[in-house]
Formats: sequence, C-alpha cells, structure tokens
Amino acid sequence: MQKLKKQIRLLMEENDKLREELARAYGQASENIPAREGLKNLWDLYQQGFHICNVHFGRIRTTECLFCEAFWDREREGGR
Ligand SMILES: [Zn+2]
Repeated sequence: MQKLKKQIRLLMEENDKLREELARAYGQASENIPAREGLKNLWDLYQQGFHICNVHFGRIRTTECLFCEAFWDREREGGR
C-alpha cells in the first residue's frame, strides 16, 4: 500500500514536470520564434498519448482529440 502511494506520488511529480515542460514548449510555440524544439517535444508527447491542446493540456489522451488535431494543424501551418 505504501509502495503504491509512493508510486502515485512519483507519477504525479512526473506529471507536474511534464506539464511544466509542456507549458514552456507551448509558450514558445505561440511566440514568433520558430520553436522547433518545442514543437518536437509536443509531438513526442502527443505520440506518447498526452493532450497538447489547451483544452486538456498535459492530460492523458485516451481517444482521438479534435482539439489536439486542430492545434497541431495550426502549429504545423503557422510554424514556418
Ligand atoms: Zn486534446
């Protein structure tokens, strides 16, 4: 039981870190600087099953998300 609690805490800490990273990447991506690194990180996270949209940002994505797809389309077009 304690082990499980510890694991959950670790997961939550990890989640916080990811959220911070996402927030940073997202912030960069919305500025004019071509944030290739940020976009790549976002893409990686998206592939790993996280939301990159600002609606469910950083949460675990269980299904296809229209917001994520819309966000990604926009970033890809505007990112050049
Ligand atoms: Zn989403």
